[in-house]
Amino acid sequence: MSENKDPHVAQSDAAVKFVYDFTEGNRDLKDLLGGKGANLAEMTNLGLPVPPGFTITTEACKTYLASGEEPVELRDEVSAHLDALEQKMGKKLGQANDPLLVSVRSGAKFSMPGMMDTVLNIGLSDKSVTGLAKQSGDDRFAWDSYRRLIQMFGKTVMDVDGELFEDALEAAKAAKKVTVDTDLEAADLKKLVTKFKKIVKTEAGRDFPQDPREQMDLAIRSVFESWNTDRAKLYRRQERIPGDLGTAVNICSMVFGNLGPDSGTGVAFTRDPASGHQGVYGDYLTNAQGEDVVAGIRNTVALADLEQIDKKSYDQLMQIMETLETHYKDLCDIEFTIERGQLWMLQTRVGKRTAGAAFRIATQLVDQGLIDEAEALQRVNGAQLAQLMFPRFDEDAKVTQLGRGIAASPGAAVGKAVFDSYTAIKWSRSGEKVILIRRETNPDDLDGMIACEGILTSRGGKTSHAAVVARGMGKTCVCGAEDLEVDTKRRRMTVGGTVVEEGDVVSIDGSTGKVYLGEVPVVPSPVVEYFEGRMHAGADDADELVGAVHRIMAYADRVRRLRVRANADNAEDALRARRFGAQGIGLCRTEHMFLGERREMVERLILADADEAREEALKELLPLQKRDFVELFEAMDGLPVTVRLLDPPLHEFLPDITELSVRVALAESRKDSNENDLRLLQAVHRLHEQNPMLGLRGVRLGLVIPGLFTMQVRAIAEAAAERKNAKGDPRAEIMIPLVGTVQELEIVREEAEQVIAEVEATTGVALKLALGTMIELPRAALTADQIAEAAEFFSFGTNDLTQTVWGFSRDDVEASFFTAYLEKGIFGVSPFETIDKDGVGKLVKDAVKAGRATRPDLKLGVCGEHGGDPESVHFFHEVGLDYVSCSPFRIPVARLEAGRAASESAGSDHR
Ligand code: PEP
Ligand code: MG
Repeated sequence: MSENKDPHVAQSDAAVKFVYDFTEGNRDLKDLLGGKGANLAEMTNLGLPVPPGFTITTEACKTYLASGEEPVELRDEVSAHLDALEQKMGKKLGQANDPLLVSVRSGAKFSMPGMMDTVLNIGLSDKSVTGLAKQSGDDRFAWDSYRRLIQMFGKTVMDVDGELFEDALEAAKAAKKVTVDTDLEAADLKKLVTKFKKIVKTEAGRDFPQDPREQMDLAIRSVFESWNTDRAKLYRRQERIPGDLGTAVNICSMVFGNLGPDSGTGVAFTRDPASGHQGVYGDYLTNAQGEDVVAGIRNTVALADLEQIDKKSYDQLMQIMETLETHYKDLCDIEFTIERGQLWMLQTRVGKRTAGAAFRIATQLVDQGLIDEAEALQRVNGAQLAQLMFPRFDEDAKVTQLGRGIAASPGAAVGKAVFDSYTAIKWSRSGEKVILIRRETNPDDLDGMIACEGILTSRGGKTSHAAVVARGMGKTCVCGAEDLEVDTKRRRMTVGGTVVEEGDVVSIDGSTGKVYLGEVPVVPSPVVEYFEGRMHAGADDADELVGAVHRIMAYADRVRRLRVRANADNAEDALRARRFGAQGIGLCRTEHMFLGERREMVERLILADADEAREEALKELLPLQKRDFVELFEAMDGLPVTVRLLDPPLHEFLPDITELSVRVALAESRKDSNENDLRLLQAVHRLHEQNPMLGLRGVRLGLVIPGLFTMQVRAIAEAAAERKNAKGDPRAEIMIPLVGTVQELEIVREEAEQVIAEVEATTGVALKLALGTMIELPRAALTADQIAEAAEFFSFGTNDLTQTVWGFSRDDVEASFFTAYLEKGIFGVSPFETIDKDGVGKLVKDAVKAGRATRPDLKLGVCGEHGGDPESVHFFHEVGLDYVSCSPFRIPVARLEAGRAASESAGSDHR
């Protein structure tokens, strides 16, 4: 082969295949065929009744997105597959006397709002509509199908405002004095088709295309283009889905749910996506097509009612649901259509579920023998666990119930009523909590749904847009609350005699579907009660969820390698952390011990201009500090406690410069100056820094304020000695903040060792106090090999490290420009929330290696906020840290994710 071949030619030489028949793919090909395509292929190969069709790959989409044109091979490949499909079906696309009709559906690897809506009935035209009428023996059906095509195609492919079609349809119903679309007859629909075509012509500036292949090709192109709609881009950023995956396109031969009362369409879940219980869950709509069932245009019936309507199809569907669950070993959701008594499967996928259901289903499947514990651990995640730890409404509270809808996505949400997404966004930006109330939501509401606390709709079932999207986001949602009359134009809703205006507070319970007027108080979740030890997994009153969480946590604890510690500064937090499973304290920030009534002593320390005065102030602080540590060591007896010496700049302990200046000026004008205030003001001016985060703080402070760090070390050492004398097992570790060079550490270390030796001598207690440092400056990370000479442990301070690596002020940037950065996709998530693996993470990784090269038994941890972030925990596992440390409330999440990370890497090692 020639070396310098044009890469484009090389690609076509390799015979890239852009189209796969449903019989050719399988569920493992999601990257190439998208989720929908891969699962259609899987169902086809399982022998389930899937209408024949084919899938255009994501590769074709990628080429289109990169070059603005479909790959040259695509047209021929599509033709070949279309030919084969036509042969199989015995009719040609759009054939005048008996047309083959197809649907064109988008389908990326991950299901994504904002992608192009399905276009059904492609192949219908002025000619073939009569052929379809004749073949089906149903004029009404044929014209209804044609009007749907023009409506869907006009809106999604030709960019015509969908409202225009809706209005025309409403007008047709009003003219006929009927309320539902099924009451329109063939003649009405025929007129509507004429009207719709006119709308297309006026709005799009061209006729509705009559050539069936042109219809299909335009629809395919629109699917490709929909990858980059604003909504899809926003969703990808939110969900951290890469922007370059592209979407596949599924072309599927049509089956019709709108052929009369023995036809219909529905959605089903193999288990309840809210509770996980097995049963018959779903909605069915007779004589309907496509999105009708989720769009809430007519009221659906419960899937269980299908047994009465069409027992044969119902039984077959139950059978198929069982096959799918056993095959996918998970909850599946399904779209199906019944065409004159014949059941067809249009889609399946592993279904979205609530956080509680995820835990329940994972353990249910273990009990059924379908999956093992390692797999169960992969079926849940820390974000879901965090959600389960949210409080719930207090059942004993006095409430005013407004109504009840469907419990679509659990949680307890309280906020001001708003009736449109724009207001939801505006109000939430100004700090208000809002509940978005709509008759039903559509993809345009996505931004508002993100901004609000919870979503309430008056129409639609468990599978409505609001419900599905809210569940995906983990947002509280009550839908289909039919008693509520929502008037979005007048920004109010009415229930009986009560009117809820925009701005009135409402509370919604996504676990029961109840809607309340006013603020309902909340109580802790049972999962928190369990972690607190106030509820036992085996007890009679423990619910199934607590049992499931208990089992999965036990498994995570068994397999995880990372230890989990807490960031805690007082005994109360330490005890709670312990109950939550903390294996020590990874960060005790001592600055919190310098506030409150002790602030005055700190002031005296700062103002001291002679050694004696300073020493006096330190002497006053010493016993107080010691008492803090005794309590902390007692609470964490037997477990390590890392105490960090004072970190923030001193001015933080002094009064606000403006307030103090005003006080001094006023006193001066009254000729009644206070000497102390004057000295304070001078000190505040002296210590004022333009960039205090980069100024006199951390170890620098310890080096320039004589006696400060040694007082703290003495307090730690004396507290440890006291605990030992009381037969305790204190395991204190002393941590120096903001070290940039080993020399700083060496000086502090020498002084500390001297103090510890003194305490050992005076108390007669041998103390083993580890001395280590935070790695939170790039220079520290870059010289970790040297720093490890003087440190027995490193704790990565990824908050400061992120701040200094990026040059971002951690106090300012999130509010100032992060929103713009997130919107522009510069990062998918704030680097203060999830560790920036490529930048900050690289420094961590290299420092781990360098530190261990110097000192193989160097203990390594992280105590920045990232220690409790699920994705970051996986990273810290991978780079080989010994522990993560996070706030007490996040400890269960960190334990779970540490278990998941360990079990994931064990799986990928193939050991
Ligand atoms: C850090 O910088 O990551 C850290 C834990 O310290 P602090 O947040 O107190 O600066
Ligand atoms: Mg820090």
